[in-house]
Parts: sequence; C-alpha cells; structure tokens
Amino acid sequence: MAMDEVFDKLRTLQDILSEKFALEQQIQEIPKLLSTQEELLARLKKSFIEKNQDYETAKASESEFFNLLGDAEKARERAEKNMDVISTQREYEALDKEIRDASEKEQQYRKDLQREERQIADLDEQMKQTAALIEQQEADLAERRVGIEAEIAEKKAQMDKLAQDEKNLTPGLDPEVLFKFERIIRNKMGRGIVAIKGGVCMGCHMILPIQFANDVRKGEEIVFCPYCSRILYYEESEQGEEEFFDTEDSGSLSDLDDTDEDDFEEEEEEEEKVNADYEE
Ligand SMILES: [Zn+2]
Repeated sequence: MAMDEVFDKLRTLQDILSEKFALEQQIQEIPKLLSTQEELLARLKKSFIEKNQDYETAKASESEFFNLLGDAEKARERAEKNMDVISTQREYEALDKEIRDASEKEQQYRKDLQREERQIADLDEQMKQTAALIEQQEADLAERRVGIEAEIAEKKAQMDKLAQDEKNLTPGLDPEVLFKFERIIRNKMGRGIVAIKGGVCMGCHMILPIQFANDVRKGEEIVFCPYCSRILYYEESEQGEEEFFDTEDSGSLSDLDDTDEDDFEEEEEEEEKVNADYEE
C-alpha cells in the first residue's frame, strides 16, 4: 500500500475512532445525570422515615396523656363525691387539696394532650407532602430512565456502525501501528496523525531532529513523533523547502499560525503521560 493511501486511511480512521471514543465517554456519563435526582429521592425517603418515627412517638405520648388525664378526672370526681360525706374541717381541707391537685393535673394533661395532637396533625401533614414528593420524584426518575435507555441504545447503534466502518478500513494496515494509533487518539482526544511542517510536529509543536524530519519526508515507513507519539506525515512548509532543512528557523513559532495557543499547554502535559505509557 502506498504511504499516501495509508495516511488517508489513518485520517479516516482517526475520525471514526474519535467519534467512537466520544460516544463511549457519553455512554459512561449518561447515568451520572440521574445521580442528583437519586440522591434527592433517598433524602426524601429518609426524611419520611424520621417523620414517621416522630409520629409514632407523639401517638404514644398522646395515649399516655389521655390515660393520665382520665385518672386525674376520676380522682377529682371521687374527691368531690366524698365532700358530701365529710364531717370535720380537717377532712374538708384534705379533700379540698385533693380536688385542687387533681384539677391542676387535669389542666396540665389537657395542655400536654393538645400539644401532642397538634404535633401529630403537623407530622401527618408533613408526611403527606413528603410522600407526594417521593411519588413525583419516582415517576420523574422512571421516565428519565426510559429516556436514558433509549439514548444509550441509540449511541450504541451509532457505535456499531462505526465499528463496521473501522473493520472495513483496517485490512492492510499494520496491527501494531493500529494499536498505537488507537491509544494516541484515545489519550489525545482525537488527533493521532499530524503533519510535520517546517521541521515542527503540528501535534506537540516540538522541533524534530533533522534526520527524523527527513525520514518523514521520504515517506517510506510510519514514523511516530518522539515527543507526542503521533504518526507524522510530511507537509510542505509555507516558507518552502530551504527552511525545512534549516535548523535555525525550523522551530520558529511564526509558522504555527493555525494552532491554538490554549491547547498548546494542555497538550504539553499530556505528552509526558503518553510517552510514559509507551515505555512499558
Ligand atoms: Zn509531536
């Protein structure tokens, strides 16, 4: 296979692989979209359980105060009845005190009872609201899950199509080159084959050794950039041939006008990582 044809195939493959990896990434990210909603649902459920426990406690207190109130009422009524049969001042005073004590208790227990009843009504209302929110949230989540499954299925179908395109393209290409190429594209977010222009790698912007640059120009074999591991192909420098062989100027940034300064730094960091991978 002629080198130009190999490079063409690699460029097409690069597009396919970038798209494939982007889809893979998206498929991984999609379920994370639900995590906020799932957390909210878990919080609502926890809150419902806590409110329900408070409700049970208030119910138990209510019944306790109800019994105490009944006892106090009975004690007062009993004392009042005994008033009819007493004969001494001392007995009167004792009964009178009993009646006042019982009445005080009755009042206190009524207040306690009312407080528990308000608490019960309040919690009951809160539980109803929480239950409604839980129901709503569960319905939302179920709906979103269906949507997400459809989205994932669609992306997987796109990936199958890309895998087929990839399969049609790879015969005749060196498997080792393909393996490296795939890894570079995965690590470099899409660019695995770049031009060498004026002796500079257009992937990492490093000045390459002259002999190296000449090998790329000859185009007899696949050459990987020693700095960023991308596959290199030769492209005529705007300044022409002479400068290509001139080490002084070949590294000038003046002919990097088509590169983005911002991703320059980002890439610099990645270079080391990839190179380290390759040394294994
Ligand atoms: Zn490079």
